[in-house]
Amino acid sequence: MEPKFIPLSVPNFCGNEKEYVNDAVVSEWVSTGGSKVPEFEKAIAEYVGAAGAVACNSGTSGLHLAMLAAGVGPGDEVIAPTLTFIAAVNPIRYAGAQPIFIGCGDSLCICPTLVREYLEANAEMRDGRCINKRTGAHIKAMVVVHVFGNMASMPGLLEIAKKYNLIVIEDATEALGTYYTDGPFKGKYAGTMGDIGVYSFNGNKIITTGAGGMVVSNNPEYLAHMKHLSTQAKSDELNYKHDEVGYNYRLTNVQAAMGLAQLEQLEGFIEHKNRMYDFYFQRLNGKGHYGIMPFREGVRSNKWFYSLYVYDEHPLKRDEIIRRLAERKIQTRPIWGLIQDQADYPRNESYGTDLARHYLDRIVNLPCSTSLTEEDAQRVVDVLLELSQG
Ligand SMILES: *Cc1c(COP(=O)(O)O)cnc(C)c1O
Repeated sequence: MEPKFIPLSVPNFCGNEKEYVNDAVVSEWVSTGGSKVPEFEKAIAEYVGAAGAVACNSGTSGLHLAMLAAGVGPGDEVIAPTLTFIAAVNPIRYAGAQPIFIGCGDSLCICPTLVREYLEANAEMRDGRCINKRTGAHIKAMVVVHVFGNMASMPGLLEIAKKYNLIVIEDATEALGTYYTDGPFKGKYAGTMGDIGVYSFNGNKIITTGAGGMVVSNNPEYLAHMKHLSTQAKSDELNYKHDEVGYNYRLTNVQAAMGLAQLEQLEGFIEHKNRMYDFYFQRLNGKGHYGIMPFREGVRSNKWFYSLYVYDEHPLKRDEIIRRLAERKIQTRPIWGLIQDQADYPRNESYGTDLARHYLDRIVNLPCSTSLTEEDAQRVVDVLLELSQG
């Protein structure tokens, strides 16, 4: 018998999705008007403890809105991680600015020590602005990505941001539900500690609206500006007056309906993700030339993606492991290529990226759907241990 296909990460609609989406269709509010969008905005803001939220049609558009609200523009520079999904960085370019790439720590998130080293060596403060001594550009902001749901080291990063007067944009697209349980930010959710936070509801994220996103902030001016920009920057409802170049970045009422149903299940999804992470960890960490990458202590992580670390002693190369797993109907994937190697980013400055390159060659993301059963996960474990025999 053919073994069952085990996908990497698929959505899970076992709650009120059909009912709420049907309500939206029956009400005929299927586009960007209707009650579900503001309801979903309020529900997300309350869940993460932010003053407000603005829905948008993707995490990528949310990051673009965040850049614009932060005032990032042509000629500016922005500190960004090199080990991430490219959508965390491209919005810097949409705004006309340039990224400076910084490496990661063992959390896979941008490393505060490396950011500090880079700025100490290359930047100076002039009239309260952080200036890149080489290019003369204003380094205006920093993008922090909470990689795979793991919390970036916010105390260190925010201290640097304060010292250099950088606006902090948290790409929390992978980290909805991750929060500190200890330390100076105890109780704070990923996405709510910087100036603006961004979530994604793409199909592979922990909750999904098919496609969609949300920006949150405690700053009412940022929130109002992002709402304005996402709705064509219309300044007069009746007479079609527009006071700047806006976008159609709105979420639809149908998507928001789905989001509300998904949000009801989020805590259950996170519990499941945590349980299956422990399952893999117990069976693979330190066995068969594998490790399971840890999540930060003092944090309740959503454990969105699990990272298998392949030691150099393993008889098979990482890509060969992924190929053999695929042959056995198990879908996995490598971590992203470094952004500094993509598109025309090799021209940009980068600093301290050796560890990112190390992980880039050695990590495999394991199946992590919220519908993953112990039986399926055991088959993943068995095949992996078999492969470590060569
Ligand atoms: C998914 C993701 C995004 C983009 O979200 P979309 O909703 O797919 O546009 C941005 N950054 C990171 C790190 C992501 O994983």
